[in-house]
Amino acid sequence: MAQIRCPKCAAPVEFDAGTRFVKCSYCDSQIYIDRSGAGFYYAIPFKLSEGDAIGTFKRWAGGSTKAKDLDRLAQIGKVKKRYFPVYLFRRDVDGKEEVIIEPAGSTILPGLHQLKVPGGDLKIFDATFDTNGAEMVKPDIDMTHYLSSLPGTAKEQSLVFFPIWTIDYTFGGKDYQVVVDASSSEVFASIFPARGSTAYLAVAILGFLAFVAEGLVATMNLFLALVLMGITVVAVLASSLFVARRL
Ligand SMILES: [Zn+2]
Repeated sequence: MAQIRCPKCAAPVEFDAGTRFVKCSYCDSQIYIDRSGAGFYYAIPFKLSEGDAIGTFKRWAGGSTKAKDLDRLAQIGKVKKRYFPVYLFRRDVDGKEEVIIEPAGSTILPGLHQLKVPGGDLKIFDATFDTNGAEMVKPDIDMTHYLSSLPGTAKEQSLVFFPIWTIDYTFGGKDYQVVVDASSSEVFASIFPARGSTAYLAVAILGFLAFVAEGLVATMNLFLALVLMGITVVAVLASSLFVARRL
Protein backbone atom coordinates (compact mmCIF):
# COMPACT_ATOMS: atom_id res chain seq x y z
CA MET A 1 0.00 0.00 0.00
CA ALA A 2 1.25 3.46 -0.86
CA GLN A 3 -0.05 6.72 0.53
CA ILE A 4 -0.66 10.21 -0.80
CA ARG A 5 -2.31 13.29 0.62
CA CYS A 6 -5.63 14.27 -0.83
CA PRO A 7 -5.01 17.45 -2.85
CA LYS A 8 -8.32 18.87 -1.59
CA CYS A 9 -8.54 18.07 2.12
CA ALA A 10 -4.99 16.83 2.79
CA ALA A 11 -6.26 13.61 4.37
CA PRO A 12 -4.02 10.59 3.86
CA VAL A 13 -5.30 8.36 1.11
CA GLU A 14 -3.98 4.84 0.68
CA PHE A 15 -3.85 3.11 -2.62
CA ASP A 16 -2.43 0.00 -4.26
CA ALA A 17 0.58 0.45 -6.47
CA GLY A 18 -0.63 0.56 -10.06
CA THR A 19 -3.95 2.13 -9.14
CA ARG A 20 -4.52 5.39 -10.92
CA PHE A 21 -7.93 6.44 -9.69
CA VAL A 22 -8.79 6.58 -6.02
CA LYS A 23 -11.45 8.27 -3.99
CA CYS A 24 -10.63 10.21 -0.85
CA SER A 25 -12.64 8.58 1.92
CA TYR A 26 -12.88 11.89 3.80
CA CYS A 27 -14.08 14.37 1.20
CA ASP A 28 -15.12 12.01 -1.62
CA SER A 29 -12.83 13.72 -4.14
CA GLN A 30 -11.78 11.61 -7.06
CA ILE A 31 -8.01 11.66 -7.19
CA TYR A 32 -5.89 10.86 -10.16
CA ILE A 33 -2.47 9.39 -9.44
CA ASP A 34 0.41 8.88 -11.75
CA ARG A 35 4.15 8.60 -11.41
CA SER A 36 4.46 12.36 -11.26
CA GLY A 37 2.11 12.75 -8.31
CA ALA A 38 -1.52 13.16 -7.36
CA GLY A 39 -3.92 15.51 -9.05
CA PHE A 40 -7.56 16.21 -9.38
CA TYR A 41 -10.06 15.16 -11.85
CA TYR A 42 -11.76 18.19 -13.22
CA ALA A 43 -14.88 18.40 -15.28
CA ILE A 44 -16.26 21.23 -17.37
CA PRO A 45 -20.01 21.75 -17.27
CA PHE A 46 -22.11 21.37 -20.43
CA LYS A 47 -23.17 24.74 -21.76
CA LEU A 48 -25.04 23.28 -24.73
CA SER A 49 -28.14 21.13 -24.48
CA GLU A 50 -28.84 18.51 -27.13
CA GLY A 51 -31.04 21.03 -28.99
CA ASP A 52 -28.28 23.69 -28.82
CA ALA A 53 -25.75 21.18 -30.15
CA ILE A 54 -27.97 20.31 -33.11
CA GLY A 55 -28.56 24.04 -33.78
CA THR A 56 -24.79 24.65 -33.67
CA PHE A 57 -24.28 21.77 -36.10
CA LYS A 58 -26.90 23.20 -38.50
CA ARG A 59 -25.28 26.64 -38.50
CA TRP A 60 -21.93 24.99 -39.19
CA ALA A 61 -23.49 22.88 -41.98
CA GLY A 62 -24.89 26.05 -43.57
CA GLY A 63 -21.37 27.49 -43.94
CA SER A 64 -20.04 28.46 -47.37
CA THR A 65 -17.50 25.61 -47.58
CA LYS A 66 -20.15 22.93 -46.94
CA ALA A 67 -22.16 21.13 -49.62
CA LYS A 68 -25.25 23.00 -50.81
CA ASP A 69 -28.23 22.44 -48.48
CA LEU A 70 -26.17 20.31 -46.08
CA ASP A 71 -27.92 22.11 -43.21
CA ARG A 72 -31.36 21.11 -44.57
CA LEU A 73 -30.62 17.68 -46.00
CA ALA A 74 -28.22 16.15 -43.47
CA GLN A 75 -30.09 13.38 -41.72
CA ILE A 76 -29.15 13.40 -38.09
CA GLY A 77 -28.65 9.97 -36.57
CA LYS A 78 -27.20 9.26 -33.14
CA VAL A 79 -26.53 12.24 -30.90
CA LYS A 80 -24.40 11.37 -27.87
CA LYS A 81 -23.54 13.33 -24.79
CA ARG A 82 -20.06 12.45 -23.63
CA TYR A 83 -17.38 13.43 -21.21
CA PHE A 84 -14.11 12.91 -22.98
CA PRO A 85 -10.93 12.75 -20.82
CA VAL A 86 -8.00 15.00 -21.67
CA TYR A 87 -4.81 15.83 -19.84
CA LEU A 88 -4.21 19.44 -19.04
CA PHE A 89 -0.58 20.37 -18.65
CA ARG A 90 0.39 23.77 -17.34
CA ARG A 91 4.05 24.21 -18.14
CA ASP A 92 6.60 26.85 -17.39
CA VAL A 93 8.34 27.48 -20.70
CA ASP A 94 11.14 30.06 -20.31
CA GLY A 95 9.17 31.91 -17.64
CA LYS A 96 5.91 31.91 -19.59
CA GLU A 97 2.96 29.67 -18.83
CA GLU A 98 1.82 27.39 -21.60
CA VAL A 99 -1.27 25.20 -21.46
CA ILE A 100 -1.22 21.99 -23.43
CA ILE A 101 -4.16 19.65 -23.91
CA GLU A 102 -3.71 16.06 -24.97
CA PRO A 103 -6.31 13.28 -25.24
CA ALA A 104 -6.29 10.80 -22.34
CA GLY A 105 -8.53 8.42 -24.21
CA SER A 106 -7.70 6.82 -27.52
CA THR A 107 -10.06 8.17 -30.12
CA ILE A 108 -10.63 8.68 -33.79
CA LEU A 109 -12.92 11.62 -33.07
CA PRO A 110 -11.72 14.85 -34.70
CA GLY A 111 -10.65 17.98 -32.87
CA LEU A 112 -9.75 16.53 -29.50
CA HIS A 113 -6.19 17.84 -29.72
CA GLN A 114 -7.47 21.36 -30.33
CA LEU A 115 -9.78 21.74 -27.35
CA LYS A 116 -9.46 24.89 -25.32
CA VAL A 117 -10.09 24.75 -21.62
CA PRO A 118 -12.21 27.75 -20.65
CA GLY A 119 -10.77 29.76 -17.80
CA GLY A 120 -12.64 29.50 -14.52
CA ASP A 121 -14.91 26.72 -15.70
CA LEU A 122 -13.05 23.82 -14.17
CA LYS A 123 -15.07 22.08 -11.51
CA ILE A 124 -13.53 19.52 -9.25
CA PHE A 125 -14.95 16.20 -10.27
CA ASP A 126 -16.04 14.56 -7.06
CA ALA A 127 -19.06 12.63 -5.87
CA THR A 128 -21.20 15.77 -5.93
CA PHE A 129 -20.56 16.50 -9.59
CA ASP A 130 -23.63 15.81 -11.69
CA THR A 131 -22.70 14.27 -15.04
CA ASN A 132 -26.30 14.72 -16.22
CA GLY A 133 -26.42 11.45 -18.07
CA ALA A 134 -23.26 12.01 -20.09
CA GLU A 135 -21.29 8.90 -20.99
CA MET A 136 -17.90 8.97 -19.25
CA VAL A 137 -15.24 7.93 -21.75
CA LYS A 138 -12.53 6.00 -19.90
CA PRO A 139 -8.97 7.33 -19.99
CA ASP A 140 -6.73 4.66 -21.48
CA ILE A 141 -3.61 6.64 -22.33
CA ASP A 142 -1.10 7.13 -19.52
CA MET A 143 -0.08 10.68 -18.70
CA THR A 144 3.58 9.63 -18.81
CA HIS A 145 3.07 8.92 -22.51
CA TYR A 146 3.17 12.69 -23.11
CA LEU A 147 5.56 13.90 -20.42
CA SER A 148 8.83 13.36 -22.28
CA SER A 149 7.77 15.41 -25.30
CA LEU A 150 6.39 18.43 -23.43
CA PRO A 151 8.28 21.74 -23.40
CA GLY A 152 9.48 23.43 -20.20
CA THR A 153 8.84 22.24 -16.66
CA ALA A 154 5.63 21.06 -15.01
CA LYS A 155 3.51 23.51 -13.01
CA GLU A 156 0.31 21.54 -12.81
CA GLN A 157 -1.17 18.54 -14.50
CA SER A 158 -4.62 17.14 -14.21
CA LEU A 159 -7.22 15.04 -15.88
CA VAL A 160 -10.12 17.01 -17.27
CA PHE A 161 -13.40 15.58 -18.44
CA PHE A 162 -14.35 17.64 -21.44
CA PRO A 163 -18.03 18.00 -22.43
CA ILE A 164 -18.74 17.08 -26.04
CA TRP A 165 -21.69 16.12 -28.17
CA THR A 166 -21.01 13.72 -31.02
CA ILE A 167 -23.49 13.90 -33.88
CA ASP A 168 -23.71 11.20 -36.54
CA TYR A 169 -25.37 12.22 -39.79
CA THR A 170 -25.82 10.96 -43.31
CA PHE A 171 -25.72 13.01 -46.47
CA GLY A 172 -25.86 11.72 -50.03
CA GLY A 173 -25.82 8.12 -48.77
CA LYS A 174 -22.63 8.53 -46.74
CA ASP A 175 -22.09 8.59 -42.98
CA TYR A 176 -20.27 11.42 -41.25
CA GLN A 177 -19.61 12.52 -37.70
CA VAL A 178 -18.91 15.82 -36.00
CA VAL A 179 -17.83 16.72 -32.50
CA VAL A 180 -19.46 19.77 -30.93
CA ASP A 181 -17.47 21.25 -28.04
CA ALA A 182 -20.23 21.72 -25.47
CA SER A 183 -18.34 24.47 -23.71
CA SER A 184 -17.14 26.70 -26.58
CA SER A 185 -19.67 25.63 -29.29
CA GLU A 186 -16.84 24.91 -31.68
CA VAL A 187 -17.52 22.19 -34.28
CA PHE A 188 -14.84 19.71 -35.31
CA ALA A 189 -15.00 17.43 -38.34
CA SER A 190 -12.24 15.59 -40.15
CA ILE A 191 -14.26 15.00 -43.30
CA PHE A 192 -17.52 16.58 -44.37
CA PRO A 193 -19.47 17.01 -47.63
CA ALA A 194 -17.78 20.03 -49.21
CA ARG A 195 -19.16 22.42 -51.77
CA GLY A 196 -18.02 21.48 -55.27
CA SER A 197 -15.64 24.02 -56.83
CA THR A 198 -15.79 22.63 -60.39
CA ALA A 199 -18.58 24.99 -61.48
CA TYR A 200 -16.70 28.08 -60.21
CA LEU A 201 -13.55 26.88 -61.95
CA ALA A 202 -15.44 26.37 -65.24
CA VAL A 203 -16.85 29.92 -65.08
CA ALA A 204 -13.39 31.34 -64.34
CA ILE A 205 -11.72 29.43 -67.20
CA LEU A 206 -14.42 30.37 -69.74
CA GLY A 207 -14.22 34.02 -68.68
CA PHE A 208 -10.44 33.99 -69.02
CA LEU A 209 -10.54 32.39 -72.50
CA ALA A 210 -13.12 34.95 -73.62
CA PHE A 211 -10.85 37.81 -72.49
CA VAL A 212 -7.85 36.32 -74.33
CA ALA A 213 -9.92 36.08 -77.53
CA GLU A 214 -11.24 39.62 -77.05
CA GLY A 215 -7.65 40.83 -76.60
CA LEU A 216 -6.90 39.47 -80.07
CA VAL A 217 -10.05 41.15 -81.46
CA ALA A 218 -8.90 44.46 -79.91
CA THR A 219 -5.82 44.53 -82.15
CA MET A 220 -8.17 44.63 -85.14
CA ASN A 221 -11.28 46.40 -83.86
CA LEU A 222 -11.07 48.12 -80.48
CA PHE A 223 -14.76 49.11 -80.32
CA LEU A 224 -16.02 45.59 -81.05
CA ALA A 225 -13.57 44.20 -78.46
CA LEU A 226 -14.80 46.61 -75.77
CA VAL A 227 -18.44 45.63 -76.45
CA LEU A 228 -17.54 41.92 -76.26
CA MET A 229 -15.60 42.47 -73.00
CA GLY A 230 -18.61 44.23 -71.50
CA ILE A 231 -20.78 41.26 -72.40
CA THR A 232 -18.19 38.86 -70.92
CA VAL A 233 -18.04 40.72 -67.60
CA VAL A 234 -21.84 40.61 -67.29
CA ALA A 235 -21.91 36.92 -68.29
CA VAL A 236 -19.20 35.97 -65.76
CA LEU A 237 -20.96 37.85 -62.97
CA ALA A 238 -24.32 36.30 -63.84
CA SER A 239 -22.96 32.76 -64.02
CA SER A 240 -21.03 33.14 -60.74
CA LEU A 241 -24.21 34.29 -59.09
CA PHE A 242 -26.09 31.34 -60.59
CA VAL A 243 -23.41 28.91 -59.37
CA ALA A 244 -23.47 30.45 -55.90
CA ARG A 245 -27.26 30.23 -55.65
CA ARG A 246 -28.03 26.92 -57.34
CA LEU A 247 -25.03 24.63 -57.07
ZN1 LIG B 1 -10.04 14.58 0.56
